[in-house]
Amino acid sequence: MHLNRYALDTKPSGIRAIANLVATRAKAGLPVYPFHLGEPDADTPEPIKRAAIEALERGDTHYPPNAGVAPLREGIATALASRYGFGYDASEITVTVGACEALSLAFMACLEPGDEAIVSTPSWPNYAQTPRLLGAHVREVPADPGRGFAVDPDALFAEVGARTRMIVLNAPNNPSGAIVPAAELRRLLDLAREHRVWVLFDEIYHDLVFDGAWHSVLSVARDDDPLIYVNGFSKSYAMTGWRLGYVAAKGQAATVIQRLHQALVTSVTSFAQAGAVAALECGDAVASMRRTYEHRRTRVLRALERAGLDAPPPAGGFYVFPKVPPPWRDGDAFARSLLEQHGVAVVPGSVFGEGFSDRFRLCFACDDALLDEGLERLVQACARPRSIDDPVRERTPSEHASTAAHPEAP
Ligand code: PLP
Repeated sequence: MHLNRYALDTKPSGIRAIANLVATRAKAGLPVYPFHLGEPDADTPEPIKRAAIEALERGDTHYPPNAGVAPLREGIATALASRYGFGYDASEITVTVGACEALSLAFMACLEPGDEAIVSTPSWPNYAQTPRLLGAHVREVPADPGRGFAVDPDALFAEVGARTRMIVLNAPNNPSGAIVPAAELRRLLDLAREHRVWVLFDEIYHDLVFDGAWHSVLSVARDDDPLIYVNGFSKSYAMTGWRLGYVAAKGQAATVIQRLHQALVTSVTSFAQAGAVAALECGDAVASMRRTYEHRRTRVLRALERAGLDAPPPAGGFYVFPKVPPPWRDGDAFARSLLEQHGVAVVPGSVFGEGFSDRFRLCFACDDALLDEGLERLVQACARPRSIDDPVRERTPSEHASTAAHPEAP
């Protein structure tokens, strides 16, 4: 039977592949230090849960308005305006099924077959999926590790061609933790206007910035900038399972995005939106989680130093993106060996774009005790890499398969 060729080309997630190996290990009763998934370890704050439960109890179980309930859209618009001084009207905000749907709507609104989206890498791998499903091309433009992976707007726009419709950016960045300085943000939007290219900006980690130098793209934006803004509740409020995000855009783009959202999912779960309204009042809980991540970041950076691993300190988010220790060269082989021999689960750098295969991503959104023990194991692994595997020789696919089936095999 016929299946869509773009759907057939969809690749399984590289992060999921590690998660499957982790599941095999856990099933066998072996310890795992889970530094692979970008999943806050904290539980959703109580007031958020209570608000959703109360919504259910009062019968808030019917179709909500397509683009989101008014208190949530108004609350988001007010929160963004008071924090970043940029005005979206509530009518320009669409509440979505996670930031994932928000991003997909933005791609669908802007891209046609044969168009191009430029993605600044390293990047969360999902950015490539929807453009490819739409028959669009994805061009990766790597940020310079020597500049801490800070985006260079001129380098990005030097790649713009006749079919480029959008540039995709994320700050704080998953996986590097890099942010974009304010001056570069304005330059980026100016170049986008000049080239008539959309900037799709994902700031899902905006509440988790550590060094006080954070500038949202909204803090420099103007009404007529070609900007589509994405954010969500998963990371700030430990609400990954609630599946709540949003997309904001001006003018016709907002209208088109709302129509697409209506066609795809109609609307987002009613009582989950009640929880999100309460989340907007949970600044203290967010600040407390941020402090926790900040402490963990310090411990991670200390451990990386002890391990001799080179990584730009993340300005935000809960990831670091170090280089594999010599004599390893390949992040895939290193990540597998680290998991199989030491139980430490990280994600190979190759997942985050071309040119990063000598790196790995470590997520520190995990329980403190596991973090400390896992970091200790990482330090040990880096101290004697030759004892855990032959890092120079690449294994064949069948060797990979056999070690996956027998996680403790050397
Ligand atoms: N954007 C980035 C940069 C992410 O890292 C993630 C999840 O890891 C998402 C979006 C997806 O967020 P959500 O859970 O809201 O769909």
